[in-house]
Amino acid sequence: MFSYGLFYPAVPAVNRSARSLGEQAITASFDNAAGGMLYCRVNSQSLIGLADRQVYVFDLDGVLYLGDTAIPYAAAAVNRLLTAGKQVYFLTNNSGKTRADYKQKLADVNHLDIPEATIFTSAYASALYLKHRAAAGRSVFVIGEPGLASELSAAGMVAVTEPDTVDIHDIDYVVVGIDRKFTYDKLRFAHAAITRGHAQFIATNRDSTFPMETGEIPGGGSLVAALATATGREPLTIGKPETHAYEAILADAQATASDSVMVGDRLDTDIAVGRRAGAYTVLVLTGVTPPDRANAAPPEWRPDRIIGDLRELD
Ligand SMILES: [Mg+2]
Repeated sequence: MFSYGLFYPAVPAVNRSARSLGEQAITASFDNAAGGMLYCRVNSQSLIGLADRQVYVFDLDGVLYLGDTAIPYAAAAVNRLLTAGKQVYFLTNNSGKTRADYKQKLADVNHLDIPEATIFTSAYASALYLKHRAAAGRSVFVIGEPGLASELSAAGMVAVTEPDTVDIHDIDYVVVGIDRKFTYDKLRFAHAAITRGHAQFIATNRDSTFPMETGEIPGGGSLVAALATATGREPLTIGKPETHAYEAILADAQATASDSVMVGDRLDTDIAVGRRAGAYTVLVLTGVTPPDRANAAPPEWRPDRIIGDLRELD
């Protein structure tokens, strides 16, 4: 059930009034650079329960920062939730860096002191997935950057990063993430391990591109696509919009999806994973999604709520 709010940037504090109005006539406002008049869909049934939910999961790029620049009000929102006793997690599809790298980045850019244990990357989630399937000691051929091999090694796997250094029949898994040193030899070896050996094909994420300050570059998904094309097989995907990583967070939080809120800037990953998992979903317009696209989202990507910035997340 959706209602439509008429948005003017100058309309104040709409969310609070929305809650006080119960399920009737829900509206919200943006106070962002987009300005102008916006129509926005809000799932009025779900809006009521936002403040009562215990677990908040934030995407990083476009939500906490853009490149190395903090997004205004993001850190304050996180601190407000932590002070209120909420469990706050971070979930990024990026597979190239370790959780320690992100802890440092959140400290440097956002001045947030976040426990590493609450930061989930698609690399860490992939390592957790394998660990929970008793893959410790098994060999993984890694198409990815050092952060991915590091997370897999930390979880007990034997990470092989150079092709032809072990026999293809000794490779149990091929795990693929963004790899800016991708080569044909890595593709050839991974293909052989999957098709002539017994390796299982796992994608950390299928993002077609990765945002950089200078523009988008090919993402991990583009390399996954190369291997999928070569092998004729589809991988098991761990990151958003698949729910493995999100479920790992819920398991850590000892919470259910219905007690969680997914906050992100992308419809096809952040909102999609929240919808699939059964979470409350919030799209924030500080990242890649412009308001017109947000309002035209198909049902499976339609957020429960759209906000201009994280001041409105309360
Ligand atoms: Mg993002």
